[in-house]
Amino acid sequence: MNIGKVITPTPGRGLVIAGPCSAETEGQVMQCARDLAKLGQVDLFRSGIWKPRTRPGSFEGVGKEGLQWLKRVKEETGMNTTTEVAKASHVFDCLKAGIDVLWLGARTTVNPFSVQEIADALNGTDIPVLIKNPINPDLGLWQGAVERIYKAGITRIGLIHRGFSYHGETTYRNVPRWQMAIEMKRKFPDLQMFIDNSHICGRRDTLHEVAQEALNLNYDGLMTEVHPRPDEAWSDAAQQITPAVFGEMLKNLRLRKPTASEMEIAPLTELRRQIDEIDNDLIGMIGRRMKLSDSIGEFKAERNIAVLQSDRWEAILVKAAQDGATHGLSSEFMEKYLKAIHQESIDHQDAIVNR
Ligand code: PEP
Ligand code: MN
Repeated sequence: MNIGKVITPTPGRGLVIAGPCSAETEGQVMQCARDLAKLGQVDLFRSGIWKPRTRPGSFEGVGKEGLQWLKRVKEETGMNTTTEVAKASHVFDCLKAGIDVLWLGARTTVNPFSVQEIADALNGTDIPVLIKNPINPDLGLWQGAVERIYKAGITRIGLIHRGFSYHGETTYRNVPRWQMAIEMKRKFPDLQMFIDNSHICGRRDTLHEVAQEALNLNYDGLMTEVHPRPDEAWSDAAQQITPAVFGEMLKNLRLRKPTASEMEIAPLTELRRQIDEIDNDLIGMIGRRMKLSDSIGEFKAERNIAVLQSDRWEAILVKAAQDGATHGLSSEFMEKYLKAIHQESIDHQDAIVNR
């Protein structure tokens, strides 16, 4: 794949996409745009024109009319503009209105029919496209959307990490699952990656820390929802911030160097060698652990004993949580780690008792 940048990088700072969740009125859009332009760091002004809402009856966007407001934003502030497209007619309307960049929302990336419809509409154009991760943690869908858009001849494609929906209690609106974005970046190293901290957080007080985490992970920039009067926003009020608060956040974010010179990272070489050695030992030890588990499997098979012994498993978990804590390992990590090992162990023993 030969993919260009959606936004030309500015040395020394991360790229910035900002604007309201939804375009509500011409006045709201223009006020937001003027205040954001004053920050002098916004590369792309965002605003939803057609809003995908979970249930009918909530504000579903102003529609086509709003595209003229975005046109005015560009004319008066010089900022490029972007909006979400979910079907072919949206693409045609945006192209006609001179929108600079399009984005595919999380509810579109999940649906190959919609993505293909948009790809077909894009065929023969060269507008840059940003693709949000699908709502559910399925890397294949995200990857598939990139491939469909690329096949349509679009050569500037970027990724937006907006988190994944999660069933259960969490402090996030959409859990980040950083490893999924890291894996996506590994598959498409040339694509710019943006963090949509607004939809990950769903609230204002954690926006900074999520954006900073993304910069620590070498993301190219961020997409944040900014509204002149967040509390009165017609959609996503809880997560939007004023241009002034946004400006403060930008000031406090620390950009990390993507790489460093050989000289500078020389001290890391030895530490990395030691880590590689430990990883190697760990894999060997886990292999040995599995062999013991196999022997236990043989024993159980001979006596027709169930593979899962709940008391024993509970005891292992409790002890590991305590041991982990003495080494500074979180109980969440210890649980994930042991569950993975335990599952592998069960799979091994299953294979033996099912023989
Ligand atoms: C948005 O950016 O306003 C939006 C609807 O995002 P998502 O597709 O990530 O939910
Ligand atoms: Mn939103």
